[in-house]
Amino acid sequence: MDFGLHRAAERLRNASRVAVVTGAGVSAASGVPTFRGADGLWSNFRVEELATPEAFARDPRLVWNWYEWRRRLVAGCRPNRAHEVLAAWSRRYPQFTLITQNVDGLHERAGTRNVVRFHGSLWELSCWDRCAGSPERWRDETVPFVELPPRCPHCGGLARPGVVWFGEPIDPRVSARAITALDCDVCLVVGTSAVVYPAAGLADEARNRGALTIEINPEPTDATPRFDLVLQGPAEEFLDRLEAELSSGSRLSSSQ
Ligand code: NAD
Repeated sequence: MDFGLHRAAERLRNASRVAVVTGAGVSAASGVPTFRGADGLWSNFRVEELATPEAFARDPRLVWNWYEWRRRLVAGCRPNRAHEVLAAWSRRYPQFTLITQNVDGLHERAGTRNVVRFHGSLWELSCWDRCAGSPERWRDETVPFVELPPRCPHCGGLARPGVVWFGEPIDPRVSARAITALDCDVCLVVGTSAVVYPAAGLADEARNRGALTIEINPEPTDATPRFDLVLQGPAEEFLDRLEAELSSGSRLSSSQ
């Protein structure tokens, strides 16, 4: 395990282009439940039954109740050590992109630069009818909403969460930014079960382009065998240890 950590630190020290892909696990230590962990249920609904356009069309109030619950929960959470280390790297590397599947906004709250929000944000809304008067998405951090479901301020129709639901495409401009970032020296994938595509395929693409790929996760995933290095453990611990290794260069070379 320590060998993997040293090797990862060595490659990170020599890297100038770094891409990091994060999933729900990076926010677990902040108290935000993951989808596929033991807490991945809400009022006996599976997330796949709530995070879809069909579910919203059927029962917008139910779906909004779930998002309202998540917005309240995240509003009371703070970035953890994993977010902090990644934020520091975003300021240190000449080329750094953080591609996150998370919608909680904790990377931005930690001060991370160049965040690509692959699946949108809990803190944005859009018009369900895509009315001509509304922007594609707008920010609204009201917790709780005065009226639930909230309304589009432009047409008075239903507003929807500004997130990408199961079955919806990723905005091509967002994908393009993510794909460009995969031309990198090191690609780290942190805290994702790697089952939701296309995000799950990003590390494979980075590897095809010559990057060293590293996974950080306490559990093996379907993608684990395809990584060059696997650090099996919590993100907040391993990113902290990597940062400690990076800031003690001489110790690193003597331990090789
Ligand atoms: P997931 O729930 O499918 O998987 C979470 C992964 O995190 C698991 O592999 C688990 O082993 C790992 N994990 C748990 N604790 C960890 C820790 N301390 N450190 C590192 N890893 C840890 O999450 P996913 O792969 O991101 O799922 C995809 C979808 O879930 C995304 O679309 C995302 O939008 C959504 N989601 C987002 C949030 C959030 O914004 N915080 C929370 C739940 C789900």
